[in-house]
Amino acid sequence: MSLSNNQKPTPHVALLPSSGMGHLTPFLRFAGSLAEQNVRVTIITTHPTISLAESQALSHFFSTFPQINPNQLHLLPINDASVNSEDPFYLKYEAIRRSSHFLTPLLSSFSPPLSALVTDMSLASTVIPVTKSLSLPNYILFTSSAKMLTLFVSSHTIIGSKLPNDSDETEEFIRIPGMPPIPKSWIPPPLLSNKPNLLKTHIIENGKMLIQSDGILINTFQNIEHESLAALNDGKVVNGLPKVTPIGPFAPCDFERNKSIAWLDDQPVGSVLYVSFGSRTAMSKEQIRELGDGLVRSGISFLWVVKEKKVDREDELELGEVFGDGFLERVKGKGLVVKNWVRQEEVMEHKAIGGFLSHCGWNSLTEAVWHGVPVLAWPQHGDQKMNAFVVERIGLGMWVEDWGWGGGERVVRSGKIGEKVREMMGNELLREQAGKVKEEARRAVGDGGSSKKGLIELIEIWNKFI
Ligand code: UDP
Ligand code: UDP
Repeated sequence: MSLSNNQKPTPHVALLPSSGMGHLTPFLRFAGSLAEQNVRVTIITTHPTISLAESQALSHFFSTFPQINPNQLHLLPINDASVNSEDPFYLKYEAIRRSSHFLTPLLSSFSPPLSALVTDMSLASTVIPVTKSLSLPNYILFTSSAKMLTLFVSSHTIIGSKLPNDSDETEEFIRIPGMPPIPKSWIPPPLLSNKPNLLKTHIIENGKMLIQSDGILINTFQNIEHESLAALNDGKVVNGLPKVTPIGPFAPCDFERNKSIAWLDDQPVGSVLYVSFGSRTAMSKEQIRELGDGLVRSGISFLWVVKEKKVDREDELELGEVFGDGFLERVKGKGLVVKNWVRQEEVMEHKAIGGFLSHCGWNSLTEAVWHGVPVLAWPQHGDQKMNAFVVERIGLGMWVEDWGWGGGERVVRSGKIGEKVREMMGNELLREQAGKVKEEARRAVGDGGSSKKGLIELIEIWNKFI
């Protein structure tokens, strides 16, 4: 009977994201898809957010989904100098870690009681002991690629155990159990550094802890990463790892829509290159100027989001000051350069967009997959080379490996950039393949698709914990 159907109890799940748009966005999209399946969702946020983009996304989200409850975890300030990081996003993970004792009373206070907690991989070592003490099922949402997950869960054995003077300096490859060897140059440099740093601690400590979670959810799908997923689920990477369930790519959500960029409406179909390095990657002025010159020289129209500071609240220079004299004049009629946040989701779905020059943040890539937009990969830091590998492997794009990491490793000159942009935008095969990947993505999350099945099975498990 419909009445009894309506009264059927549903699981209540709390989501605890960490910091940065690259982590918040997939949590919000996941929350939206759970709400669509009638799961009762609470999102635990921490304030203040590091970026303005996060606080704006949260307020749009909660006004779009009034049925999803916001809740807040109180944070203790970090005011000692022992924490070594220049990255405010990593410092926020640390602040959450130090405030974890507030989590126990918070998680026990919900009514109806929680069936499960889903948290970010960067908070695993903080949160799992708390959920264990409460006998609350704990799931990890991994917001990068399955390829990166293989490194994340095995780092403590392959890198963490090494002493600083281990004589493997000449070894050029890293061997993740169960996976083909990968060049050492793909590993985030801080992870290989002998100096203590928060990225290293975070990957090693959290990666080690994932084995104790009840399940790992990941924003990818079988067709594009079956090899990594199989190695993880067959126990080849880490024996005893809980099930890794691909439930992506997360479809963009209603709260992300706003007004589109009118300039795009006037451009021919598939003619524009979208250029963005995500929400938290700053480029040096020198590289910005070379890139600008390269884009103009390519002869391809472009929409470029320039970022000169890691945290948006600090990005105060006007475009004219970033570029110096004359550049913006040269751009006129060839492209649009902006400094503010754009709704990337809307940009990517615009028919004028024909390619994406990307830093390979995993969310950006899943968005390129979702819309079938070919990618020119230019990884800058962190997991991005691992992700760039996936881009090439599935035929979604091109990666010029010798451009190296961003952030001053080397400056890539305008001539090279212009050449590769032209090559990528003119590559018909790439467009076709990107179109196929898009179809596969939509099938994966559609009814009967592999990721949709994963999500439904998960909710069935949670139903047992009501
Ligand atoms: N994004 C956006 N507008 C911008 C910059 C970024 O909407 O101007 C979004 C982008 O669509 C993605 C997220 O912010 O969903 C960035 O995550 P990603 O994993 O790509 O990279 P990160 O910012 O974490 O390096
Ligand atoms: N693949 C993967 N992880 C890897 C290597 C490959 O998930 O480390 C996937 C890849 O996404 C592709 C499939 O395995 O869908 C086959 O990859 P390959 O490029 O070897 O294709 P083949 O030439 O064997 O058809």
